[in-house]
Amino acid sequence: MKRRHFFQQMGLPLAAASLASLASAAESAHGNTSRETPPQCDDGGLKLAPVNARADRITGVYTCTRPFRLAGPRIEMERLGQKHIVHNYGHGGSGWSLSWGSSMQALRLARTTHVRELGVIGCGALGLTSALLAQRAGMSVRIYARELPPDVASMRATGLWTPDSRICDLSHAPLLAKQWEEMTRYSHAMYQSMLGLPGNPVEWIEGYSLSSEPFERASHPGVADEPDYGEFGDSVADLRPRSVELTGSVNPFPAYSTRRFSIMRFNISYYARMLMADFLGMGGKIVVRDFSHPRELQRLPEPTLINATGYGAKALFGDDSVIPVRGQTARLIPQPEVNYALRIRNISMVPRSDGLIIQEIGNTGDFNNADATPDRAASESLVASLADLLKA
Ligand SMILES: Cc1cc2nc3c(=O)[nH]c(=O)nc-3n(C[C@H](O)[C@H](O)[C@H](O)COP(=O)(O)OP(=O)(O)OC[C@H]3O[C@@H](n4cnc5c(N)ncnc54)[C@H](O)[C@@H]3O)c2cc1C
Repeated sequence: MKRRHFFQQMGLPLAAASLASLASAAESAHGNTSRETPPQCDDGGLKLAPVNARADRITGVYTCTRPFRLAGPRIEMERLGQKHIVHNYGHGGSGWSLSWGSSMQALRLARTTHVRELGVIGCGALGLTSALLAQRAGMSVRIYARELPPDVASMRATGLWTPDSRICDLSHAPLLAKQWEEMTRYSHAMYQSMLGLPGNPVEWIEGYSLSSEPFERASHPGVADEPDYGEFGDSVADLRPRSVELTGSVNPFPAYSTRRFSIMRFNISYYARMLMADFLGMGGKIVVRDFSHPRELQRLPEPTLINATGYGAKALFGDDSVIPVRGQTARLIPQPEVNYALRIRNISMVPRSDGLIIQEIGNTGDFNNADATPDRAASESLVASLADLLKA
C-alpha cells in the first residue's frame, strides 16, 4: 500500500517511482493514477534555462517539523473554563494547501458561539487564514502568537499546492475523506482568486519529473519508516491537470524519460506578507505572546479563540497525537529565468521568487523527529547531486 500510495501521489505509473514525487504530493495535483496511460506529447521543441546548482549559491538552509496527526487535522470546538476553543492544527505536509478550507471549517464552528470578537492563537498559515476569514465575516480579530512571519514554521515550507501530503494515515482516510474534500475545494477556489495579482503570490507553474529508465520500469521502495498515508486524489480529479509524457524532440531532458506536470506554487515570502498586510489593513491587531499553559488563555478578553498553533499544540495542549515529521529545504540564489519545477531521483527543486528551493524527498529518519537543527552538509551534498544529474 505504501508503495502504491507513493506512486499515486506522484501521478506516475507504479514503475515510475524512482523519480519519487515533487514534494511527494506535487503530482497528486495532477490527477494521473497508476491505472492511466499518460498522454504523450511530441509537438515542438522546448528549451529550459539551466539551473545553477552550486553549493556556494546556497543562501539558507531551513528545517522544521510538519505537524502530522494519524487522524488528520484537529478541527473541533471544546469548552475550556470560560472560553470556547476551536482547534485548527495538525495539517502535516498540507498546511498551506488546505489553509483556507480548514480555516473556513474552524470559523464555522466559532460562529456558533455568536461572538463579534475573536482571538486567534498562532500566526502561521492556519492562523492568518482563520483571522482573515473571520474579518471578512465581520468580526474584530486579534492574533496572539509567539512568532510572526518570517519566523513561523510555515515560512519553511516548499510552497506547492499539495493538499494530501502527509495529511492522515490510511486507516483514518475514510473518516476524513468528506471533510478533506470540502477543505480542498474551498482552498482551491480561494487560490484561483489570487492568480495574476501583482507580486505573484500564487501561480501555476510547470514541472518535469525525470527518470533514468522508462516510467513503466522504474521502481521506488517508498519511505520505510513512515506509515501508509491516506489517499484522496480521485475525489478531486477535476482540479488536477493531467501530466504529459514528453517524447522525442520535445523532451527538454533527452537523457531521461520525462513527464511534464502543472502545479500551483505559492511564493511564500511574498504571500505571507500579503496576508499580514491584508489582516492589518482590515484593522486586525497582533499581540506577541508565548503561552505555556491553556489556563493563560482564560485571561484573554475574547470569549472564543481559534487555536492555530501547529506543532506548538503538542506542548501547549499536551496533545501527543501530534507527530513531528522533520523536513529540510535549501534555498539557492533566485534565478528568475528558471520558472519550472524539477523532480529527479530523490531531489525536488521548486522555483520561487525568493530562491530555488531544493529538498530531499523520501528520507528515512524524518518521521517522529523533532530535531529542527539545519544540516547544511546534507543540503550541500544534495545540490552537488542535482548538479551531477543535470550534467546529463
Ligand atoms: C520541509 C517542509 C515542506 C513543506 N511544504 C509544504 C508545501 O509545499 N505545501 C503545503 O501546503 N504545506 C507544506 N508543508 C507543511 C506546512 O508547512 C505546515 O502544514 C504548516 O506550516 C502548518 O501551519 P500552522 O499555521 O499550523 O503552524 P505554524 O506555521 O507552526 O504556526 C504556528 C503559530 O502558532 C504559534 N504558537 C505555537 N505555540 C505557541 C504558544 N505556546 N504560544 C503562542 N504562540 C504559539 C507560533 O508562534 C506560530 O505563530 C511543508 C512542511 C515542511 C516541514
